[in-house]
Amino acid sequence: MTCEGPGHRLVNVLITTLDLQKEPLEFRQEIAEGAIDYAPDTRQVGVLPVTGRADLIVEHRGPQEQVEDIRLRAEYRGQFEVLCARCVEPVAVPLTGEFDLLFRPENADAEAGERAITEDETEIGYYGKSGLELEDVVREQVLLSLPGRTLCTPDCKGLCAHCGQNLNVMQCGCAGSAGLKDPRWSALQGLALKQ
Ligand SMILES: [Zn+2]
Ligand SMILES: [Zn+2]
Repeated sequence: MTCEGPGHRLVNVLITTLDLQKEPLEFRQEIAEGAIDYAPDTRQVGVLPVTGRADLIVEHRGPQEQVEDIRLRAEYRGQFEVLCARCVEPVAVPLTGEFDLLFRPENADAEAGERAITEDETEIGYYGKSGLELEDVVREQVLLSLPGRTLCTPDCKGLCAHCGQNLNVMQCGCAGSAGLKDPRWSALQGLALKQ
C-alpha cells in the first residue's frame, strides 16, 4: 500500500491480501485531480477524498480449499464535470457515493464457470495477481453513479447540426433551424427560387 500526501500525483493505492492478513486496512485517501482517467466526457474537479476500509474475508470452499477475498467499503464526495449531452459544454456535477464490494482472486471462479451466479453475488468483482487497486474501483463506482445523460439546462437548445454554433449562446443563420425566420435568409431563399 502506498499512501502519500497531497501534491503527489498519480499515486495508486494497492490493496493486497498479504497486507490484510496482518490487519484490516483503514484509509483516507485524497485522489488528485487528473489521477484517474474516467471517460472522455467526465473529469474530476479538485481532489476526491475517499475514506474507507478493506478487510480480508476467507472463504472455505472445502477442507483444503480457501479463497481469500477482499471486502472493500468506502465513501467519497467530490466534484465532477460532465459534458452536456446536447451542447457539450461542461456541467458541474457534485457526487457523493458509497460502496461495499467483494473482490475475489482472478482465477477463483475459473473452474466453477458454469456455476450460477445468485442475486447477491452480482456485486462481486475480481482482483489481479498484484492486488486490488483502489483507483480502479473508485473509477468504476463514479462512472456507475453519474447520471446516464446530463444536460446543462432541461431546455438546452444544443448545437446547430450544420455549423456547430451553440444555440444557447447565439442563433446561427443556418436554414433548417431558426434561420428560416431570419429575414436575410428569406431573401436569399427567394433569390434561389428565382434562378
Ligand atoms: Zn447544453
Ligand atoms: Zn448553424
